Amino acid sequence: MGYLLRATVSNGDIRVFMVHSTDIVEKARKIHNLSPTTSAALGRLLTAGSIMGVMLKGEKDNLTITMNGGGPTGNLVVCSNSKGNVKGYISNPSIDLPLNLKGKLDVGGAVGKNGMLTVVKDMGLKEPYVGQVPIQTGEIAEDLAYYFAVSEQVPSAVVLGVLVDTDTTIKAAGGILIQMLPGANEMLGDIITFRLHEIPPLSKLIAEGKSGEDILNMLFDDMDLKIYEKIEVDYICDCSKERVEKALIALGKDELIKIKNEDKKIEMQCHFCNERYVFSEDEIEKLIECAQ
Ligand SMILES: [Zn+2]
Repeated sequence: MGYLLRATVSNGDIRVFMVHSTDIVEKARKIHNLSPTTSAALGRLLTAGSIMGVMLKGEKDNLTITMNGGGPTGNLVVCSNSKGNVKGYISNPSIDLPLNLKGKLDVGGAVGKNGMLTVVKDMGLKEPYVGQVPIQTGEIAEDLAYYFAVSEQVPSAVVLGVLVDTDTTIKAAGGILIQMLPGANEMLGDIITFRLHEIPPLSKLIAEGKSGEDILNMLFDDMDLKIYEKIEVDYICDCSKERVEKALIALGKDELIKIKNEDKKIEMQCHFCNERYVFSEDEIEKLIECAQ
């Protein structure tokens, strides 16, 4: 389980979220058998998803982030809810690239930058909110900063880090989102950008055992830092046989009859947790009775 801190800086002119997501990314790695490169890619997006989930206003709201950059990993999908819990998948989890010129995992090369980053927020209204921007680098943090600036018009700094150990398990993962609220002094933005460059990489600090509180204090201790909430966040899939049944019933009577006659059974696997759901001929018969 990970945790997330909500804080403000400079009398509330700036809001800050910090998530410690090592356990979340390790869980994703195990479920999807991720390579080091895809651990970093999906891990960064899961980490950001947790933060963007808790930013939702309604308790039942949820959010889906999709990136399709045309790179070898294929699509990345992350869903989160207002409790900051996340789940996700990547089309090609085994893709692994050589380190980039900076000696880092080549997330940008793996994700690609010929495509869109899409954020869909389901807030219980008739139509969901959809925000979409072109992918800038495929490195994910830069892409989300661009999304916040362009689509939501909030100047934001996004730091996402995943450190993969030599045995390919996740050594550390975390993220920070810093947003300037309307009316904040622009100088503050420059100071924060400078400090983010000055501190060691986030994943390294977490690997050294620094807590989220320690890291926020390193960044903001002289800037009226107020940490006012700490919540537990996790990788959770909420799939169930009932949900799969509902989706199958929605296919309609004709389609179900066709499947029953041709395949005799239905086997479905959850993209997010790999749980398998099997429906026998008798069970399909019951679904047909429920369908229209
Ligand atoms: Zn599932």
